[in-house]
Amino acid sequence: MPELPEVERATQLLRAALLQRVLTEVRTHHPSARRALPDDVARSLEGHRVVQIERRAKYQLLTLDDARIIEVHFKMTGDWAIGPVTLPPPRLGRVTLLTDDHTRISLVDGRAFAVVRVHPPGATVVPPLGPEPLDEAWTAEYLHDALVRRHGPIKPVLLDQRVVAGLGNIYAAEALWEAAIHPLARASRLSHTRVARLVDAARLVLERAPSRRYYGARATDDGYTYALGDGDDEAWRVYDRAGEPCDRCGAIIRSRAQAGRTTYYCGGCQRV
Ligand SMILES: [Zn+2]
Repeated sequence: MPELPEVERATQLLRAALLQRVLTEVRTHHPSARRALPDDVARSLEGHRVVQIERRAKYQLLTLDDARIIEVHFKMTGDWAIGPVTLPPPRLGRVTLLTDDHTRISLVDGRAFAVVRVHPPGATVVPPLGPEPLDEAWTAEYLHDALVRRHGPIKPVLLDQRVVAGLGNIYAAEALWEAAIHPLARASRLSHTRVARLVDAARLVLERAPSRRYYGARATDDGYTYALGDGDDEAWRVYDRAGEPCDRCGAIIRSRAQAGRTTYYCGGCQRV
């Protein structure tokens, strides 16, 4: 699943290709894409200029010259493929945007869960969200205050978007390892010192995120530029490393289901 650093990279790529451009053609190529973006709505976008492109958590928000907002969410496997219209369409394209400078911007998505949806001017698109991990507002004090009211273990709380927006499953597991906190540690019992260490750890893992990540079958030699593309996953300390030795203490990395997600941790050095 694309996480915060990847969605930020995707937004930057989209901004470079689409900001201040006019949409000349908008088409959907999959039933699930069409449910969110019916053909008549897609056509109504044509002739309009994109005047602003922002990211909030994992939402990409495009504002048109008539103030309508296009919401994009990659969900599990979405990505942008961007290239000249002269290239054959990319594989797994679900929504295509053509621009007045002859660029094809395709939402490619193996699982077809990604969403492109149009909202009226002034609509509230994004649900209430807490600060992002790299925001100055996300301090140890803020997190400690949020945690003392929580029952249950820390890991699912870190995935609650009202506590911190967009941290995601991989980075939550990585941050807990960095802070030497077990995913089953009780959220409300964490000391201020350990919470401060967790805030620093979350920033660290996001700032050193792998430069590119790979999400499923995708040709990357087709001439298109992808936001996520082909990459390496070797930078993780615990994520997807069950059975391997811990870099810090040498104990074996474990995995377990927790609140419907798989989490990875070291039972040797991450304390409850
Ligand atoms: Zn360890």
